[in-house]
Amino acid sequence: MQDYLIRATALGGSVRAFAVQTTGIVEELRRRHDTFPLATAALGRTVSAGVMMGAMLKDEQRLTIQVKGNGPLGQIVVDADAKGNVRGYIDNPQVDLPLNERGKLDVAGGVGEGYLYIIKDLGLKEPYRGSVPLVSGELAEDFTYYFAKSEQTPSSVALGVLVSPDYSVQASGGFILQLLPGLNDDEIDEMEKNLAQLPPVTSLLASGEDMESILKRIIDSVEVLEKSEIRFQCQCSRERVERTLISLGREEIQDMIREDGKAELVCHFCNEAYQFSREQLQELLDHMKR
Ligand code: ZN
Repeated sequence: MQDYLIRATALGGSVRAFAVQTTGIVEELRRRHDTFPLATAALGRTVSAGVMMGAMLKDEQRLTIQVKGNGPLGQIVVDADAKGNVRGYIDNPQVDLPLNERGKLDVAGGVGEGYLYIIKDLGLKEPYRGSVPLVSGELAEDFTYYFAKSEQTPSSVALGVLVSPDYSVQASGGFILQLLPGLNDDEIDEMEKNLAQLPPVTSLLASGEDMESILKRIIDSVEVLEKSEIRFQCQCSRERVERTLISLGREEIQDMIREDGKAELVCHFCNEAYQFSREQLQELLDHMKR
């Protein structure tokens, strides 16, 4: 099933909503990085947040999310843009921990304590950088805290990944509801009541419900403005990898030729391996002379 992003509004524009189904993207990441369930959940939740935050940007703007905790999963990095492209990786994809006290994957234990960093390339000279301490490690709460603290927007964030016993991704998705000024207490109470009663997004997705109907469970009068495709996409290419090799300098390349007679560079984000033979490395060196 094609993954998608929904942009919606409700209550006279006082609620801005984003919702995603990322099952296919997270399954592709699982396959590329060979993640075990705990890492699949942590990376997948961050990817869902990334796609939705990407949708808050414009045109050529991009953003990077870094979850830097001291837990065994290590760092999580996700890149997303305004056009629905996303990629990501996690330092330790095969960490396993016992289930938490609620019988769920212990994402907070895997992430640990640390910081959530948001870096936005808005096309200005300097990128925007925001960071907040990780308040939970379960990630949805951490993004909620980020929106409140760094962007002064009260939000409700849900992120989930449901992993099958065979480790494949059964469902992945989430939503971000942003509360803008103008809501009355009754409207907020009603929304909070519905949120408290909402079953996990992934259970609903797995049972065949789509994100629009999930949003309607929270705010009956929600109006979808746009539904668009989202996808895994890496920006790496042989040309970029060549530029990286060249930036290492002549000596480094000469060492590679002398020691291994070849080089292999692996892209962190997509795990694609780029091979360079002795002749190709020599060609790069020759090129650098000019
Ligand atoms: Zn790549």
